[in-house]
Amino acid sequence: MSAQIIDGKAIAAKVRDRVADGVASIKAAHNYSPGLATVLVGEDPASATYVRSKQKMCENLGIRSIGHHLAADTPQADVQALVASLNSDPEVNGILVQLPLPKHIDEETILNSIDLTKDIDGFHPVNIGRLAMKGRNPLFIPCTPAGCMVLLEEAGVNLRGAEAVIVGRSNIVGLPMAMLLQKADATVTICHSRTKDLREHLQRADIVVAAIGRAEMITGDMLKPGTAVIDVGINRVDDATTKKGYRLVGDVHYESALAVAGAITPVPGGVGPMTIAMLMQNTLRAAEMAVAGRP
Ligand code: NDP
Repeated sequence: MSAQIIDGKAIAAKVRDRVADGVASIKAAHNYSPGLATVLVGEDPASATYVRSKQKMCENLGIRSIGHHLAADTPQADVQALVASLNSDPEVNGILVQLPLPKHIDEETILNSIDLTKDIDGFHPVNIGRLAMKGRNPLFIPCTPAGCMVLLEEAGVNLRGAEAVIVGRSNIVGLPMAMLLQKADATVTICHSRTKDLREHLQRADIVVAAIGRAEMITGDMLKPGTAVIDVGINRVDDATTKKGYRLVGDVHYESALAVAGAITPVPGGVGPMTIAMLMQNTLRAAEMAVAGRP
């Protein structure tokens, strides 16, 4: 039997439609458009592409985007000064500092300096701390794991009491994903590069989230039949048959997993479209908080 394919493109389109409606409502009620400020430091082409696609999505949804592009050798103090000015600018609802930052800039200091109410990436330690604590709720949830939760929900996957195995423990994906799943009453195991027997963990998992960055590392034979697979990985592999000379694959070997899993996200077209959609949703939420109480 073949798995249910979780269509991230279609689910992200629904999220974006709801965001566009929310933006229109704010505009109608307050004559105010939500604003997202992006901060890009340096010339990394992948980062520049991500920032452009976020700005384009803003445009499509009626969100103002305010772009700041700083030279690679910008001193840390200048980046901090820019964040401080965006923090106090009422026209800016969300601040997105594109990672990674150049090596001479301390990422932690910069992320800590973003106003909590504008932390639409959800990376501020207070937001992450609230995500980790029982009975607390962050103002914003990091976009990729938030998108994975929507995909699981839309696919009708039961989370309560489920055995969830997260492969990867990064601050932006694996760790917050684990916290979200345990908040949703799953029993969570976090695996990483030092995990002794990944296969053993995977074989009892009802839910697998792969956020590793290694092409097709998890194969169908490692999975428990019927498991729900969320593949966060985006990896380029050489492919001379394509125009670009490469294709994108996930951390899960799609064809073999498809035959075993109960549900699975494709790459591309799974988690990827959700990340930007959730960023837009967080920006709308920031704007809704900002206008609350206005006439
Ligand atoms: P990181 O490199 O920060 O983290 C990778 C994690 O995988 C680490 O925790 C690492 O363990 C673990 N790992 C590495 N090798 C193994 C192994 N052999 N067995 C088990 N665990 C291993 O990556 P990110 O979390 O930033 O990203 C992960 C993937 O998701 C990448 O492909 C990235 O491109 C993609 N991504 C996709 C997004 C989307 O929108 N779809 C958004 C963000 C990322 P350790 O901690 O021990 O080093």
